[in-house]
Amino acid sequence: METINAKIANIRENMMQELDSAGSSESLQALRVRYLGKRGELTQMLRSLGNLPPEKRPAAGQALNELRQEIEAALEARSLLIARAEDEAREATDFVDVTLPPRGRGWGGFHPVVQTMNEIIDIFVGMGFSVAYGPEIEDDFHNFEALNIPPHHPARDMQDTFYLDNGRLLRTHTSPVEVRAMLRWGAPLRIIVPGKVYRRDSDQTHSPMFHQLEGLLIDEDVSLADLKGCLNTFVGAIFGRPLDSRFRASYFPFTEPSLEMDVECFACSGRNPSCRICKGTGWLEILGCGMTHPNVLRYGGIDPDRYNGFAWGMGPDRVAMLKYGLTDLRVLFEGHGSFLTGGGY
Ligand SMILES: [Zn+2]
Repeated sequence: METINAKIANIRENMMQELDSAGSSESLQALRVRYLGKRGELTQMLRSLGNLPPEKRPAAGQALNELRQEIEAALEARSLLIARAEDEAREATDFVDVTLPPRGRGWGGFHPVVQTMNEIIDIFVGMGFSVAYGPEIEDDFHNFEALNIPPHHPARDMQDTFYLDNGRLLRTHTSPVEVRAMLRWGAPLRIIVPGKVYRRDSDQTHSPMFHQLEGLLIDEDVSLADLKGCLNTFVGAIFGRPLDSRFRASYFPFTEPSLEMDVECFACSGRNPSCRICKGTGWLEILGCGMTHPNVLRYGGIDPDRYNGFAWGMGPDRVAMLKYGLTDLRVLFEGHGSFLTGGGY
């Protein structure tokens, strides 16, 4: 009995010393395992009670149980203290000063070209057109052949087209999406196609990457009058008021007849000989258009004896230049902060 009591006293003393120096919930947990765990010192002593003579077991068992309760109570008390200290430490480092002013949300803005494209898209969507997209890496069939551009056509010249090593190319216009849309959806069809296109060209009014937005309407009995009505409605909407327009004969391989559309200068209506937007002509070239060539309809799987349609293509970059009075196209792509945030250029 003396040895048991001595052991108990020894454990109590060690335990209390270690408890005093335990500074974290981790070390407290280690202590709990060491004394009260399955292989803990106290647990092993309780198990070895069976080795004692039967008359000594009750007293030894009681003493051990008292020690166990004492240790548990001490651990509990210590753990409350430690938890509180740890909470206080966390609060000190995670402190949130609710009186600080907010940092602001750093609002961005849409690029002028994107704003212009969104405006154009809105106008045509309002007229019942759907927006179609297609790949920027194209093949010869969709970019040229199906658009009635035969192999000898100058548009295929290496001067104009970026060819890739695998025989593919960067699309030179958004028109291949027309072909894909006709093959996919057939007629009747009413789509607009905004997107980036690529040509080997760079100067004040040309950039090797620029934007196009074109449209295609296919139905029965479509006429040039429908084309004019549709596009006149568009220019009135984009420039904020109805404008005079004129159509000049032109040539595109994918339309017949082909036309260039000019609109009255929205700034001077032709009354200012030194107008820097129309350069005194009173007219602004705005887009190319025409009645879809029967060959293009055929390539798109549409019967040209039953359906016809019109198409047009414009440069949102140019529309943005006109709207914002820019003289150099390249500023649109050079990322000047003051220009992009509306500070002027
Ligand atoms: Zn003008």
